[in-house]
Amino acid sequence: MDRRNFLKKAGVGVAASTVFGPVFAQTAPSIRWRLASSFPKSLDTIFGAADVLADRVSQLTDGKFQIRTFPAGEIVPGLQVLDAVQQGTVEIGHTASYYFVGKAQVLAYDAAVPFGLTARQQNAWMYYGGGLELFRPIFADFNVINFPGGNTGAQMGGWFRKEINSTADLKGIKMRIPGPGGVVMSRLGVVPQVLAGGDIYPALERGTIDATEWVGPYDDEKLGFYKIAKYYYYPGFWEPGPQLSFYVNLNEWKKLPKSYQQAFEVAAAEANLTMLAKYDKVNPEALQRLLKNGVRLRKFPNEILKAGQKAAFDWYEEEAAKDATYKKVYTAWRKFRDDEYKAFAVYELGYEQFAFPNVG
Ligand code: CA
Repeated sequence: MDRRNFLKKAGVGVAASTVFGPVFAQTAPSIRWRLASSFPKSLDTIFGAADVLADRVSQLTDGKFQIRTFPAGEIVPGLQVLDAVQQGTVEIGHTASYYFVGKAQVLAYDAAVPFGLTARQQNAWMYYGGGLELFRPIFADFNVINFPGGNTGAQMGGWFRKEINSTADLKGIKMRIPGPGGVVMSRLGVVPQVLAGGDIYPALERGTIDATEWVGPYDDEKLGFYKIAKYYYYPGFWEPGPQLSFYVNLNEWKKLPKSYQQAFEVAAAEANLTMLAKYDKVNPEALQRLLKNGVRLRKFPNEILKAGQKAAFDWYEEEAAKDATYKKVYTAWRKFRDDEYKAFAVYELGYEQFAFPNVG
């Protein structure tokens, strides 16, 4: 007889919660996992999502399933998180999948590509539009199961020492911009640089670089770029809704009790949601402070947006022609993107264009 039937027959339905508590505590295994983040603690909104996950998993399992979070470099270098999870050095990673395009270019679609999906559209794709189904087998080849793990929302285009009025002004500009954004910008004549967060300010100050992108007002303000590069461009068209991901070692995942897997999935979804919610609270406040500090807000000229969009779409077609997995994901993604754009242009943009202030 299973426990539920036994309880029903014994007439202890009302007392079930008090009965189940101790039973769960007796039978649930104690599990200790380690999470390696690709991010420093100073990126508190992004890094903090790992703590949201860990705290909720602990609460949902009466403290039996404990996850300890480590910032980039403490036990695993930030850009080696995928390898570490694959090999089982740590059970969990928290990262951005476009860091690993050197292994497979298609991984960028688990994070962001230029002129791709907004945060809401990325969630729609991953949870309901076939994105997770497409990526689970791709990550299984790395011995990983992946979960959406946060989003920054549309990023800013970044900080420039001089005004950019045309694509000609981008030629030869040394800009810190890694990943897929760097590829597209290089096709517009920019010389992309890859620098870790702490190295950007001194490089910009010395003039080793002319421009940098980072995240958005809240994180950018903390690094102080406004003190040395007054022009703050938008939109960051290479990251319209970049998603972070939790990676879990597949062998370890399979060993978890089902209830712990459920706790993990719920906690990951909470971290995914609340990271964006927090950014949407702190970014507007930071933007106001930056403007008070004399920052000059500029929109990229349409010429640059158009050239960037063409460069991006040409590049995706080139990659699709080279790699069957990329083509499969890209083809499904492109159809989803086109459908989302058409609908959002009606009900979201139709509202926003009227209701939001015109900042030029
Ligand atoms: Ca960025």
